[in-house]
Amino acid sequence: MTGLIDSARRVLLVHAHPDDETLATGALIADLVARGVEVHVVTATRGERGELMPGVVDVEPGSEAFVAHREGELAKALSHLGVRHHCFLGMPPARDRAHRTSRRYRDSGMRWIREGLAGPAKDAPADAFTIVPLTEPVADLAAYVEATAPDVLVSYDAGGGYGHPDHVRTHEVTREVARAHGIPVIEVIPPDREVDGDAAAIEWTDGSTHLATVQAALRAHATQVRVDGTDVVHVGGQREPIVTRIGLRHRGADVADV
Ligand SMILES: [Zn+2]
Repeated sequence: MTGLIDSARRVLLVHAHPDDETLATGALIADLVARGVEVHVVTATRGERGELMPGVVDVEPGSEAFVAHREGELAKALSHLGVRHHCFLGMPPARDRAHRTSRRYRDSGMRWIREGLAGPAKDAPADAFTIVPLTEPVADLAAYVEATAPDVLVSYDAGGGYGHPDHVRTHEVTREVARAHGIPVIEVIPPDREVDGDAAAIEWTDGSTHLATVQAALRAHATQVRVDGTDVVHVGGQREPIVTRIGLRHRGADVADV
């Protein structure tokens, strides 16, 4: 592990949708928890636009029942990973104290602009995470950071992992809060992907000893993925090895995007 994350006692991971915490950082979270680090996860949206794996549950994709089911899947996955502190962005304490009521940021959806690059869905709703002004989610995440005082924030790189607009936005929100509060950021770099910026600065971590924990957490997200040995198969049929080798890049509090 890198020096920065080694010395952290409290880590906040900021993710876009339920399942990202496990898909992108499950092994990292399991490792932090095993080392006694206090792990916090904030999830920006409830994955309302996610597809539904056939035969898993009898609900309509996008319905309130679907959303409630995904919330339950996330809770189960977090419990497998050992995370005791979770919050959706817009819910106290991840809510700007200037507002009395909580709010939701909706999944923006995505479409493929070209192979390997995703963009926002054309019909993203007005309260979609990528449509609302950046200052709103920034104020909500800042409230959580002020309430919990993490040593380091963890999120995606500027490309959002694979370009999903909610992931890119998550990066922007996290970086903005980090800069305002002087907290370092660690960007999570997926394996086997072309890296933007300084590839030499990435430290690769091996979380393979936590594979069984990650598999259990992935199985909790049954509407989105299924586990096939050491592979994860997405609802759309894409198959990839379960990520246990995770790249970490320390960006400091005030480093500009590359
Ligand atoms: Zn996602």
